[in-house]
Order: sequence, then C-alpha cells, then structure tokens
Amino acid sequence: MSRPLTATVDLEAILSNYRYAKQLHPTCKAFAVVKSNAYGHGAVRVAQYLEGDADAFAVASIEEALELREAGIESPIMLLEGIFEPAEWELCAEQGFWTALENSMQLESLLTLGKPVEKVFVKLDSGMHRLGVNKETAAEYVQTLRDSGLVGEVLLMTHFACADDLADLTTMKQLAYFEQTRQLIGKVEASVANSAAIMKWSVPEGGWIRPGIMLYGISPFAEVSGVELGLKPAMTLTSKVISVRQVSTGDKVGYGLSYQAAADHQLLTVAVGYGDGYPRAADHGTPMLINGKPAELAGRVSMDMITAKRVTESSVPAAIGDEVVLWGNGVPVEKVAYWSGTIGYELVTRMTSRPHFVYQ
Ligand code: PLP
Repeated sequence: MSRPLTATVDLEAILSNYRYAKQLHPTCKAFAVVKSNAYGHGAVRVAQYLEGDADAFAVASIEEALELREAGIESPIMLLEGIFEPAEWELCAEQGFWTALENSMQLESLLTLGKPVEKVFVKLDSGMHRLGVNKETAAEYVQTLRDSGLVGEVLLMTHFACADDLADLTTMKQLAYFEQTRQLIGKVEASVANSAAIMKWSVPEGGWIRPGIMLYGISPFAEVSGVELGLKPAMTLTSKVISVRQVSTGDKVGYGLSYQAAADHQLLTVAVGYGDGYPRAADHGTPMLINGKPAELAGRVSMDMITAKRVTESSVPAAIGDEVVLWGNGVPVEKVAYWSGTIGYELVTRMTSRPHFVYQ
C-alpha cells in the first residue's frame, strides 16, 4: 500500500468559482490568478481546465508564465509584478505576455528594446506602499507608453491592502486615489479587485478583476468560510490512520511530549506532516474528521505524521485504515488555518508535491 495522503482537487469547483466571480461583475473580464502553482492546486492542471473559459491567467513571474505556455496554454498570461530583468521583455514580446509596469527600469528597458507588447498595466501605489508609483508618475508612464507606439493597450491597476477587513476605510481611500488618477489620465481601463474586493466592495465596472483565493473556494475574510460565501472548496486533503494505541490519563505524546492525555482514550497516528504542507504550528484541538466523526490534533505535528483523538469516544474503536479528512469536505481549511495561526492562503500554497494529487 502506498502512503495514503491524497490531495483531491475538484477542477469543476474552480471553474464554478471563476464563473461566480464573473457573475458578480458582469461587465468585467477576469484573470484566473494561478500564481504559486495555483495556490498549491497545480497551475498546469488548473489552467488547462479553465482554458477556453478564463479570459486570461495571472502569475507572479516569467518562469510561471513559461510553464503554462510550455504546457500548451494559449490564453493571455499576465505577469502581476512585471518583469524583474530587462531581458524578460524579449520573452514578453515573443510569447504575448501581458505585464504590470511599476518602475523606471521596467519602463526604460521596454522603450530601449523597442519591440511591441500587447498590454501593459501601469501599477498605481494607491496606499499599500509595496509596488507601484504615485498618481502623477502613473499618468506620465501611461502617456509615455501610449506615445511610444509599442504597447497595444495601456491600462491602470492597483492592489488593495485591507480589502479583507470590511470595517477598514483604507479600501475606500485607495479607490478614491485610483479615481483621481483616472481623472488625470482620461479614458483608461482599470484593474483593481482581488477576491475580497470582488465579493464585498464596490469596484469600478468594466476592466479586469483578479480573483485568486476565491477560485479555490477559500475565503479571504477571517470570520467567514468559503462555503458560507457561496464558494465551492476545491481541495480536500485526506489520509488514513496508520497506528492505534490506548493512552491513559497523564500520558504524554509526541515530540516535546507537549500533549498530555486528560483522560484514557484512543490515540490515532495519521499519515500527514509538515513535510507534506500540514502546518507544524497547528495547535492541539485543530479539527479533522475520522470516519466522518469530529476528531482533533493531539500532539505536535511531525514531518510525516500527526497524532489525533476523536472528540467523543465511541463504542466502535477506531482502526488502522480509517479515513481522515484533514481539510476540505466538512473541515474548512480556514478553520485549520485559524488553529495554526495563519490563513487559508498559506496552507494550500505550502502544499508540497509529496501527497498524491488526484484531479476530478
Ligand atoms: N492581484 C494581485 C496583484 C495579487 O498579488 C493577488 C494575490 O496576492 C491577487 C490579485 C489575488 O488576490 P486574492 O488571492 O486575494 O484574490
């Protein structure tokens, strides 16, 4: 028997979540954001499934874009952070990649290369202060690019810092700054919205939305799960019980003996660990299902194994081979993330290639 850890990816769910994002903004086109290996779901498989439905894909680097092209993806692919070295423009021109443009190196090297590219999204720093330029510089960049005659279409984009916090006014301020910039420029297509903004903020119609985490059925908000938002979770991580023992009150378990049994109970060892992407920071009590019944982490996460106990002891003892759902299907990944002091984004993105990946 091979190691029973399996990440089952529901491609139809990803397509359905993509369609849902577009339904919320019927006047917009939508990038399917598949950077970082499609948030751990497998960029090539996801893009192949969405090809023909997705208006375009978005990734973080030219390497990620080339991986998709080499796998036969013909749709437009956008580099969300632009190029990192001048020589990358050559590939953008050749492969028809679209790019963000947010600094003078990117601008000058495009003008020096002098080869036409399809679309450039000038990136405005509307308040996040991570990438992008201020409104005057953005307006200058747009004008220079248009005057160069090298760019098929010049657009304006920005990214939100706090769209996941509905009580924070930063998003409103960023949107106002974006609109001021558009007024400086005149007519220009916009791209502003990530998943949180797509679902909960009022964003400019027309232009391009950029759904990422919501495609995978995961919520960008701390208090609500993807399912509660009407999304379909795409990844279910399952494994099996590989060892069973009885512990007595006071027995300690695992590395550091950090868990101590408060009562006699069965202790179940499950084949998954931080070497697979299960978070080492997961605390005792992190939820899972064993044979469909609530269970929880009991002991520190090892590289290849965890130990768990059922929430309610049953007259039917657990046994080697029992099915364990670690997240997905009945166990929101957002909850596991919460118990691990992180966010759903990080859990799925940190999946390694060690689990069996099954696509359905
Ligand atoms: N747009 C940009 C520029 C991004 O960097 C990201 C992801 O970090 C996204 C869109 C997608 O964001 P989300 O996954 O929150 O939808």
